[in-house]
Amino acid sequence: MVRYVYDFTEGGRDLAGLLGGKGSNLAEMTRLGLPVPPGFTLTTEACRAFLATGSEPAGLWEEVSAHLSALEASAGRLLGQPDDPLLLSVRSGAKFSMPGMMETILDIGLNDDSVLGLAKVSGGERFAWDSYRRLVQMFGSTVMGVDSASFERSLAAMKDLRGVRDDVHLTASDLAELVETYKELIRLETGEHFPQSPAEQLRRAVLAVFESWNGERARLYRRREHIADDLGTAVNVQRMVFGNLGADSGSGVAFTRDPATGRPGLYGDYLPDAQGEDVVAGIRNTVSLSELARLDPESYARLRAHTETLERHYRDLCDIEFTIERGTLWMLQTRVGKRTAEAAFVLAAELADEGLITPDEALARVSGEGLARLMFPRFDASATGAVLARGVPASPGAAVGAVVFDTTRAVRRAAAGEKVVLVRQETTPDDLPGMIAAQAVLTSRGGKTSHAAVVARGMGKVCVCGAEELAVDTGARRFTAADGTVVEEGAVVSVDGSAGAVYAGPVPLVDSAVIRYLEGGRGDEGARGVVDAVARALSRADAVRRLEVRANADTPEDAARARRFGARGVGLCRTEHMFLGERRKLVEQMILAGTDAERDRALADLLPLQRRDFTGILEAMDGLPVTIRLLDPPLHEFLPDHTDLAVRIAAAEARGEEPDAHDVDLLSAVNRMHEENPMLGLRGVRLGLVVPGLVAMQVRAIGEAVAGRLLAGGAPRAEIMVPLVGDVRELRLVREEVRRVLADVSRAAGVTVDCPVGTMIELPRAALTAGRIAEEAEFFSFGTNDLTQTTWGFSRDDVEAEFFSAYLDKGVFPVSPFETLDRDGVGRLVSLAVAEGRATRPDLTIGVCGEHGGDPDSVHFFHTAGLDYVSCSPFRVPVARLEAGRAAL
Ligand code: PEP
Ligand code: MG
Repeated sequence: MVRYVYDFTEGGRDLAGLLGGKGSNLAEMTRLGLPVPPGFTLTTEACRAFLATGSEPAGLWEEVSAHLSALEASAGRLLGQPDDPLLLSVRSGAKFSMPGMMETILDIGLNDDSVLGLAKVSGGERFAWDSYRRLVQMFGSTVMGVDSASFERSLAAMKDLRGVRDDVHLTASDLAELVETYKELIRLETGEHFPQSPAEQLRRAVLAVFESWNGERARLYRRREHIADDLGTAVNVQRMVFGNLGADSGSGVAFTRDPATGRPGLYGDYLPDAQGEDVVAGIRNTVSLSELARLDPESYARLRAHTETLERHYRDLCDIEFTIERGTLWMLQTRVGKRTAEAAFVLAAELADEGLITPDEALARVSGEGLARLMFPRFDASATGAVLARGVPASPGAAVGAVVFDTTRAVRRAAAGEKVVLVRQETTPDDLPGMIAAQAVLTSRGGKTSHAAVVARGMGKVCVCGAEELAVDTGARRFTAADGTVVEEGAVVSVDGSAGAVYAGPVPLVDSAVIRYLEGGRGDEGARGVVDAVARALSRADAVRRLEVRANADTPEDAARARRFGARGVGLCRTEHMFLGERRKLVEQMILAGTDAERDRALADLLPLQRRDFTGILEAMDGLPVTIRLLDPPLHEFLPDHTDLAVRIAAAEARGEEPDAHDVDLLSAVNRMHEENPMLGLRGVRLGLVVPGLVAMQVRAIGEAVAGRLLAGGAPRAEIMVPLVGDVRELRLVREEVRRVLADVSRAAGVTVDCPVGTMIELPRAALTAGRIAEEAEFFSFGTNDLTQTTWGFSRDDVEAEFFSAYLDKGVFPVSPFETLDRDGVGRLVSLAVAEGRATRPDLTIGVCGEHGGDPDSVHFFHTAGLDYVSCSPFRVPVARLEAGRAAL
């Protein structure tokens, strides 16, 4: 029989899939003997069954009742017992943390009778009525679907009526009156009464949490974080403890180390006389934990001891939620804490130094994405303008954008291509779409653990929060800085999430310390910790990885930079990029040539230019392989736009003038070359086989460059790569020509020039016939951009438009297959081609040079598929090195 409910004493952290992150960690803390209020967890399996059928799975409530009875027995009182009620919290908790995206309902068990009992036993009439008010409000909006703004309005009206500013100044009888107003509101809006039965409250709260898995913001968050939609959430039912029972109570959040920098030391926020929700919501400004040490040294000492236990046990940074109820410390949650990229690297290095984790574990704890973030530029400190505000540096990085004050506008303006900065007093989960759309998030309230900070850090978005001197007026769409500067919506600001500063206007950017280190410098003093940590992670990755990393580079400068970043060769030099700019004219002449002699002349003009380019790249990569691809894109890309030409000719005719003869020739060439599907047309090897002299010219340029480098004492290792091959015979024809030309070059130069000839595998037919193709190919390089295009039948140039986002929405794929390799389809072709290619030629060198070569997930796939190297843009080289190392662990 399936079991749907586990007591906290029964679970453990290895059960996160079943009990969710929160539930499994509560169980783990319980097992460690930490003070956790007792409770139990309904499994994700129960949630999935409920969501699939729309009703609770059979036996669920019997199990819940049994666990509840045990809880009641241990507490010595019943749920909602009128004279001394046991109260419960009902919280979501999925396998992967989704901060604030699903529902929580507190104070379950209060009703018109038990509120009086609570008032009596707690000695706090006001406290009891406030708890009841919170329950009716939370239950009304979450479970019964009443707009939460209606409750907020009633609350505001009550405060107005009493002439007070803060909730805390409302008396017990004010709150009792408010409860009646809320109940009436619920009745009017839903036609139902607020349920007085504690059992019914519990049951409906649980189901509402299940349902919140499919709420809009939860779905959006999952899409953004690539969390699967079918996991479901667990639900934790736990005895309530109260942080709002007066000055000797409170709630807080702590990190065992600083989640922004990774530096050691307990770090967090505390809010006296408050419930946990108040801390995270950033509604009141919190105090630091050192203040807690002063207020309640005993609880602080206990908290320190528990956090040390947790960090040693989890061997990682933990984040913790706790509540102090009249001097007694309770641990309400722990998990391995989210951290910035910088903190991830620093922590991994420090935990390894402390002997808590091995060097390999340290490598596993960092990521290529994080490294990429550390390579982003930062603000030029010497060029910063007026500081508008300083706040908490909650999530690092530099962002420039126009100020907007609500999510809707953030989304709209970002969709129109504008860079925006979302400014709020504090964010709520409803702001998620705006946070995703914005370059940065700026709030005037809340600490490092506020919603804005946690969510922004999780998604690597720049965030400054708690910039208290800012007066944010959302209604008027402006904020006022401490010095009186008024910033209206649309004005540009620069947000420095690393320093916690906001500047007026755009601030110029400079290289990050990590880039300066990778470029061969040492980075600045202030960044020593993170630079050292990155260096250590990369050197470990280099020591363990099997995949080699090359770069896609078309210029000597790019090749040189890639080499400094650790590339061991060029995996793709796209020669067509050398035909752009002013050389385009020469290509035009080659295409338009009326006679062989004219074409030969055009090719002869191109030859020295190509030779010079190749010489520079071979020099920059001396001693390492440089894979030069023969010309690939459709020729029409080099010709002028058809419409422009036609308009020019028509305009001349309309003026009664003779149109320019060159324009007329060009137009007829453009018409002749026109293809409906140029991506599937005259490009790649096809071009080389039909344009006489083209392959010969390119190979001669390569050969002469190699000869020149050899004669200069270099060690050039050019490889010639043929694109878009679909059949071995195409490759054979090109290869014969290559041999002939290289023999010629060798004779003329007096040195032997020998370049391996290989092919790209970028058509399904090439993958399917790879065994045959390997008879002629000395190496393969997967062109996964075209291979994805032709396998899926998605046009590379068009898909990023409308229907791709619909596909992402509908969950056809969680991420674009042009970004992360589609293992099931394209990946199978890759694996097949690797196996069959090597069956023909065991020493076949195999790499990949499509964009996927720099994508972390895809790098792991290429490792498993047995490739020899990945090739990616120079700036992705360190990312690929790191991920290739992680893949080998
Ligand atoms: C590819 O198709 O993956 C490739 C690297 O070639 P290009 O992007 O130049 O078509
Ligand atoms: Mg291609």
